[in-house]
Parts: sequence; structure tokens; C-alpha cells
Amino acid sequence: LLQLYGPLNFLGSVYSAIRTALVDLEHMLGLTEEEVEVADPAHPLPIATRLQVSAPARVAFRDVHFGYRPEREILHGISFEVEPGRKVAIVGTTGAGKSTISRLLFRFYDVWSGAVLVDGHDVRDYRQADLRAAIGVVPQDTVLFNESIGYNIAYGRLGATPAEVQHAAQLAQIHDFIMSLPEGYETQVGERGLKLSGGEKQRVAIARTILKDPRVLVLDEATSALDTHTEKEIQAALKTVSARRTTLVIAHRLSTIVDADEILVMAKGHIVERGTHAALLAQNAVYASMWAAQGGESGQET
Ligand code: ADP
Repeated sequence: LLQLYGPLNFLGSVYSAIRTALVDLEHMLGLTEEEVEVADPAHPLPIATRLQVSAPARVAFRDVHFGYRPEREILHGISFEVEPGRKVAIVGTTGAGKSTISRLLFRFYDVWSGAVLVDGHDVRDYRQADLRAAIGVVPQDTVLFNESIGYNIAYGRLGATPAEVQHAAQLAQIHDFIMSLPEGYETQVGERGLKLSGGEKQRVAIARTILKDPRVLVLDEATSALDTHTEKEIQAALKTVSARRTTLVIAHRLSTIVDADEILVMAKGHIVERGTHAALLAQNAVYASMWAAQGGESGQET
């Protein structure tokens, strides 16, 4: 019985890891069960998934039109490019279409016309599982599994060694916190274990993503404010994970994206302004008034 328990336990863990990873993604993308399925191509192109063994990816949207229902178009011709290793931020009011863009990048839906490209190829040319392995998400709110905290980080990449897990935790600035817990990396977390704060959960998500080492990163910034100290730590950890990585940020606090290579300002499914922080401020239009509304230089949340 003991001999059986090992492998069964292992399979159970793999299953929960996959399930939780999916829960995270669905949660972040706001997906519901009624979602349509997209089909894998008959002859999928290979795609490198980890940054460690390949270059950062190139991401592009070319004149993308899309809607969830045939009678209502949501994105009205969206075009932008994220050069390898660069960071593009999307801002705009609720309902502008920001999350829809990240859903199309993951190919949870197919575009009506135009194309979403990764490494210069249409995402429809890849196997979905491969595409999603190449893209990492740090969601707004991370779902933790009722497992050890070490395990919650490790399922970023099943098969990672304990040393790799610890290294990721250090980079995400959560290692010291973990070591202060009663059972260290073995401490149980989740609903039936230790409750983690929003900031701690986010650092677990960052550690997980560092371990996954995807070539593209999607950051879905939390709308809820963390205290200033926690916020600083999170921003530092996010810098580590997005360094040299092609990054798309769905931003709510403009103070976190002043260094973006390009900022896309969206309204009602259109990109109404685009440019660097400085250029957009100089334009003195939509972005500039958003910046002013958020407290300008102090970058306070509204
Ligand atoms: P944002 O992320 O900028 O707040 P979204 O991309 O979530 O905006 O939504 C853009 C528009 O698409 C909204 O009008 C929203 O109501 C609509 N929408 C989002 N998800 C769905 C869905 N699953 N089915 C139908 N309409 C949706």
C-alpha cells in the first residue's frame, strides 16, 4: 500500500497543479464555462517556451477585429507590436477591451479578422498548449492550492528542483518570509492552511512565473491597493520577472508603467492614444488627464 501511495500521491499532485494553473488562468482572464473552443492546427509549428533556452518572443496584433457575439464587435482594428524583451502597457476605462486583448493572445478565442502573431506566426499555427506554455501570467488575484507553499511555487514548472524553487522564491522576494514560517517550504497554505496576504500571494505568483520562465509575460495589475511598502516590494519583484522578457501589462496605476516602451490608451475597443509616458503627457489629452486624476507625480491611486 505504501508503495502505491507514492505514485498516486504524485499523480494527484500533478493533477491538482494542472487544475490550479488552469483555475488561475481562467480566473485572470475572467473566463466562464460557456466559452467556445478553438481548434489546434493539423500541422502545428513548434514554439520555444522558456526564455533560458531561447530569445524573448515578438508579439504583434495586426488590425484585429473581434467580438464575443456576432452582433457586437468589441475590438475595432487593434494594431501594436511588442518587440522582443520590451514592455507595452495597456490602460483605459473598464470595458475598453484590455482583458480581451490578453485573451486573444492566449488564443482563448479566434479573431474575426486580422491576426495575433507570436514570433511572426499567427497564434492559430501553434498548438494551444505550446502557446500557453510560452506565455506566463501574473494574475490580479492568485488562487492558492491546499498544498505546501513550496509546491505552490513549484507547479510553475513541474520537475523543477528544490534549489530552483528556492532561487525563484529569492528573486520574488518571498524566500525570507517562507523561511520564517513554522515548517518553511513545507508549510501548508490555502483555505485549509496558512492564509497569505494579498502581497504574499502575489509574490508566490511571481516566483511561480520566474520558475516557468516563459518568453512572454502578461501582468494583470491588481486594482486593489496594497500598502506602500508591500507595493514597493511587489514592483521590485515584478521588475525581476519582466526584465529582458517581452511583457504586456494591463495597468490600473499609471505610476507602475512610466517606464513602459509604449503605452496604449484604449477606449471602447479603439487605441485612442499611444506613446511613451513623456510623449503622452506632452500630448496633453486622454492619458495626461488620467495621470492628473491619479495624482500626477505622486502616482496615487484614485
Ligand atoms: P477591460 O479589460 O478593459 O475592462 P474587457 O476586455 O474585459 O474590458 O471587456 C470589453 C467588452 O467586452 C466589455 O463591453 C465587456 O462587457 C465585453 N465582454 C467581456 N467578456 C465578455 C464575454 N465573455 N462575453 C460577452 N462580452 C464580454
